[in-house]
Amino acid sequence: MTAQNNGQAPILIRGARENNLKKINMEIPRGKVVVFAGVSGSGKSSIVFDTIASESMRQLYETFPLYVRNRMPRYRAPKADEIQNLTTAIVVDQKTFSGDVRSTVGTMTDISPMLRLLFSRFSDNPAGTSNAYSFNDPEGMCPVCSGLGKTMQFNLDKVLDYEKSLNEGAIRVPGFHVDSWQWQMYVRSGRFDNDKPLKDFTEEEWDYFLHGAGQIVDIKNMTGHVWGDSYKLTFEGLADRLDRLFLQKQQKTMSKSVQNILQNFTDQNICSECGGRRLNQKALQSLIGGKNIWEYGQMEISDLIPELSSLAEGHAEALIRKIVRELKYIEEIGLGYLNLNRTSSTLSGGEAQRLKIVRHLGSGLTGMTYIFDEPSIGLHPRDIDRLRRLMKQLRDRGNTVLVVEHDRDIIRAADEVIEVGPGAGRRGGTLVYQGTFDGLTKADTPTGKWLREPLIINGRPRVPEEWITLTGCRLNNLKNLTVRIPRGVLTAITGVAGSGKSSLACGELLRQYPETIHISQSPVGTNIRSNPASYVGIMNEIRRLFAKENNTTPSLYSYNAKGACPVCKGKGFVVTEMAYMDPVTVECEVCGGLRYNEEALAGRYRGKTIAEVLDLTVAEALEFFDQAKIRSKLAALQEVGLDYLTLGQPTSTMSGGECQRIKLAAHLRSRNGVYVMDEPAVGLHGQDIKLLLNLLNRLVENGNTVVIVEHKYDLISKADWIIDLGPGGGKHGGCVLYEGPVAGLLEQRSSYTGQYLRRAVQKKE
Ligand code: ADP
Ligand code: ADP
Ligand code: ZN
Ligand code: ZN
Repeated sequence: MTAQNNGQAPILIRGARENNLKKINMEIPRGKVVVFAGVSGSGKSSIVFDTIASESMRQLYETFPLYVRNRMPRYRAPKADEIQNLTTAIVVDQKTFSGDVRSTVGTMTDISPMLRLLFSRFSDNPAGTSNAYSFNDPEGMCPVCSGLGKTMQFNLDKVLDYEKSLNEGAIRVPGFHVDSWQWQMYVRSGRFDNDKPLKDFTEEEWDYFLHGAGQIVDIKNMTGHVWGDSYKLTFEGLADRLDRLFLQKQQKTMSKSVQNILQNFTDQNICSECGGRRLNQKALQSLIGGKNIWEYGQMEISDLIPELSSLAEGHAEALIRKIVRELKYIEEIGLGYLNLNRTSSTLSGGEAQRLKIVRHLGSGLTGMTYIFDEPSIGLHPRDIDRLRRLMKQLRDRGNTVLVVEHDRDIIRAADEVIEVGPGAGRRGGTLVYQGTFDGLTKADTPTGKWLREPLIINGRPRVPEEWITLTGCRLNNLKNLTVRIPRGVLTAITGVAGSGKSSLACGELLRQYPETIHISQSPVGTNIRSNPASYVGIMNEIRRLFAKENNTTPSLYSYNAKGACPVCKGKGFVVTEMAYMDPVTVECEVCGGLRYNEEALAGRYRGKTIAEVLDLTVAEALEFFDQAKIRSKLAALQEVGLDYLTLGQPTSTMSGGECQRIKLAAHLRSRNGVYVMDEPAVGLHGQDIKLLLNLLNRLVENGNTVVIVEHKYDLISKADWIIDLGPGGGKHGGCVLYEGPVAGLLEQRSSYTGQYLRRAVQKKE
């Protein structure tokens, strides 16, 4: 195997034991692109993030960017006997910049400051210092909207269908559909005639419906939730609730689905003072080449490059060249369809990750260890070549590039592949292969086997009989489309990044057919106290079992209540605030991260303490418990391929794909629903994708309509129906290139998806 590269000693790890790792020893070559492969949950992240990045952080944490620390809540030495020859690790992950509306493509790539500098030095009518153009600076921001560019309000005409009763689904906002718990809050309040169309509501009913408060309502039998216990909610009028949930906290975090809700159900009035330009008049009046800074920010980057280049002369030349160089990096990774004014929170995870790469390419650092977490997400096969080039560029500057990846084209690009496995959780955690890609294709490992499997196109697609017709689709770049979504089949929406897939599937479908259930990858259970057991609702039952066995109260077995460790208050770690730096998180010394106090840990059920029970994987728990109530909920987790999770793993440590599947588990038994999922294969190995496909097909067999936005051949080749968008991204996309059974896509010469799928099928034959 590998030893030296250009005299750089390899990273040496001995006795690594994080999470499921089984005391593994490894040598990772430096100065190369090394891809970590293996089934989901096999331990790739445990090596790359929890061992390598974590140790590097321990040594150098003060030099780390903020977002890394979110990935690694613990600040302690990783469990390993020895780690040598590490260099500073930089994690380039997919965390979108949480919904701070003041962060844009321009600010996050550091291009905006350069552009402002350009204006302050070289414009016709300079407005002052370079800050005077920033909408984040009082000197430059529009005084009316404080630099936001718009004002927002829910529009009840969009939110409600006055012709319908509550029972008929009068509330159109996703999450308030018939049978949802939020819907029940209104229907079970006893205040309304649930069968009366809203247009016939009395004044009193209206008032309570929109602004009522305080009453306790019982929520019951949540359809679609396998773990549907009853619980109590405090009534809140719909208008107040929407304001509180979506408008008041809008500035902090904004998931895609929240953005869609805001987009579809509010009136967003453009600020009358600045006309949405976010800047004050003075800033807007200074021009270069006849355009102000906002106008440059509105141009698609692919158009901005030639425009700025044509101005590169005289004093401004050096600065403009520098800006253009950075813009070209963005174009090279396939994001030329974005513009600098685009708010970061509206970017997908994949887009955000690629923009972070741009920032690092611009920085010119060498001797670093760059770590990528599934960079193929959101990337069409066409764009994967570009990503591979970027990774090689980083390597050729003298960096080590470590990549956790499932995509075969990225694995193929590795100088060396390390496969972790063979299975997930306790069935994984060892090295099963290290060497070249060619060697891997012959290896007897899960990834090797998967690479050898032929790609087979769905030859017996279900034939749709009914349709949901979407008309006048114009969201973002969609070119006034009429699109038919077939009911009762599995549809994949395909196309290059930026072609309009999410705009159609998450935007227009949700808006025009609000009953649609969007199963997103957004985090489940937003606090660190939530875990799979509490999420599926078996925690109470487990606590009751412990209480009964030990003659005490259930709350002793809650780390949120009586059972909490007194020092960390049940969190398992302690946070120390540091001046000028991010807080440092250290495992609690008293409970050793177990979160419970001694009294709670003294109790046992079938020989195990509560902490030991929470440390069981779902698969182990299925053997441990025989209560039907608990088992049915665990079985649902097993069916979605999450049986390797432990009951107590904080949901905050779960990946986007895992969050999506845990949500999916709640819907396995639903019927006649319409589901949308974006990139459900994220985080999944080819072997796991088969499981997922079985689940999706099962949903369809149950009479549901399933729509996925997807790039991976393994999934789209098995869909019943394809809607391919394109041909390009941004204004070059937004058209339907193909609608029909997947086999027909192969014949579409104008479609990149068709071309690449055809090649993939041939390669595999
Ligand atoms: P991969 O990256 O290959 O998908 P991971 O390294 O994330 O796998 O996970 C390996 C195993 O460790 C899985 O069983 C996973 O559930 C578990 N695990 C990962 N992170 C944590 C954590 N923070 N706490 C407890 N268990 C974890
Ligand atoms: P895909 O899902 O195919 O990657 P999207 O539907 O996300 O494509 O994007 C289509 C086009 O719409 C792109 O040009 C993108 O930049 C733009 N777009 C997407 N979301 C927003 C948004 N929230 N605000 C402004 N433009 C957007
Ligand atoms: Zn304004
Ligand atoms: Zn503690």
